[in-house]
Amino acid sequence: MEVTVALQAIPENGRLVVVGGDAAGMSAASRARRLRSDIDIVVLERGYDVSYSACSLPYYIQGVVEHRDDLIAVGADEFRDARGIDARLGTPVVAVEPRGRRVVYATIEDETTHELAYDALVLATGASAVSLPVPGSELDGIFTLRTIPDADEIKLRLKQDHVLRAVVVGGGYIGLETAEALAGLDLDVTVVEMAPRVMTTYDEELSEIIRAELERNGVSVVTNAAVESFEGDARGVTHVVAAGERIEADVVIVGVGVRPNVELAGTAGLELGESGAIRVDRHQRTSDDHIFAAGDCAEHYHVVTGAPAWIPLGQTANKQGRIAGTNAVGGSERFGGTAGTNASKVFGLEVAGTGLTETVARQRGYDCSSAMIESRSRSGAYPGAKPLFVKLVFETGSGRILGGQLVGAEGVAKRVDSVATAIFAGMTVQELAVVDMSYAPPFSPVWDPVLIAASQAAKKVG
Ligand code: FAD
Repeated sequence: MEVTVALQAIPENGRLVVVGGDAAGMSAASRARRLRSDIDIVVLERGYDVSYSACSLPYYIQGVVEHRDDLIAVGADEFRDARGIDARLGTPVVAVEPRGRRVVYATIEDETTHELAYDALVLATGASAVSLPVPGSELDGIFTLRTIPDADEIKLRLKQDHVLRAVVVGGGYIGLETAEALAGLDLDVTVVEMAPRVMTTYDEELSEIIRAELERNGVSVVTNAAVESFEGDARGVTHVVAAGERIEADVVIVGVGVRPNVELAGTAGLELGESGAIRVDRHQRTSDDHIFAAGDCAEHYHVVTGAPAWIPLGQTANKQGRIAGTNAVGGSERFGGTAGTNASKVFGLEVAGTGLTETVARQRGYDCSSAMIESRSRSGAYPGAKPLFVKLVFETGSGRILGGQLVGAEGVAKRVDSVATAIFAGMTVQELAVVDMSYAPPFSPVWDPVLIAASQAAKKVG
């Protein structure tokens, strides 16, 4: 990526302040340090961990990731000692004052507040899990999962002898990953979803395959069921009431979505976008010249629609953070965009998607078609070949690829990247159908499933 560093945004020996110390914030700080050794870089993090992998939390709960420390990519001490980044923990920022170019932060330890001046500011405040404001939601044993302390609390609850039945509210990817983790700990797990199907970020055909995999692994799935209340006794939650049904639960994980942390930005007068996240341009600039925003708190340019979107994902946060760090210290780097490319594991299935689903493309007014095929993960002659489903969504007239979804036991999570690459290159299904993809029996049939889907789709163009 080309970076032109003009170095005038922060004067010599000036100060960059970063609010939020996870993916976006630490990427911004690290990048800024690589480009500028002269400036003061301070990261203010309200929690007690920086640069942690929220994505691994379900695996930490299950014990697949054994040690808490494995969740931390780089600790605050290393940032301070080896990288010259003043990462301060337990320091929530309570106000941003753009006119005076300063932030006000508290220190949790001694309950004092302090002011800190900046020449440039990066907001990387992320997102928070949405809770369910229904009767009984204050009962013990009901959790959301966003941070390491959340996971620690869930692990503590799971150690209690009576905790045998879990309800996961929300059938999105975090809910399903958590359901798998809890089932892996031998809990009796029910997923309760308000929508008619799980994984609504995929089209219905794919959702059905995913649901079948959950049920095959002993997870009960209740759909069309909005949670009305929680019931409990002295030990905490005992039941989830949804769609008139009382479902037994000794522990409940609420995974009904996240919302961007924009309170600071809002009170500082920064513009927010339609999604509710901070409006940024592709250089991560906010509506204030000295303030940048990145990651889950900011909007993300979408490569398919060419419009701002809000698709909070880890790699996007790292990329945007890096760009914000570059530009905050005077460089010039532009965000290439997101297609919302994602992958997750649901028991024996790999599930992956990129771009728009057919449902969303139609809602957005695209004249689109789709092709869905079932193929195999390996050559038929080679042992262990498993079913692999590919769905491609494309513009009917031109064949431009709008999105792709894949589900199968293996070879899915990385195959989606070829579809993402095609989307980024603005390719049509006709063009994708003739790409030279690898073939060897252990990895693919001679015609890769993505090629088969693309040639089926190509027949429908025009
Ligand atoms: P965050 O990680 O939310 O970090 C923001 C930081 O800012 C936090 O540490 C917070 O404490 C701090 N902060 C907020 N307000 C203040 C304040 N006022 N003062 C000081 N500090 C403040 N993404 C994927 O791409 N793939 C996955 O497989 C995946 N799995 C996930 C699984 C789970 C269970 C979860 C919870 C998330 C998952 N994600 C995944 C999403 C991914 O973790 C996020 O997109 C990523 O963490 C966003 O990084 P961020 O730095 O923008 O925000």
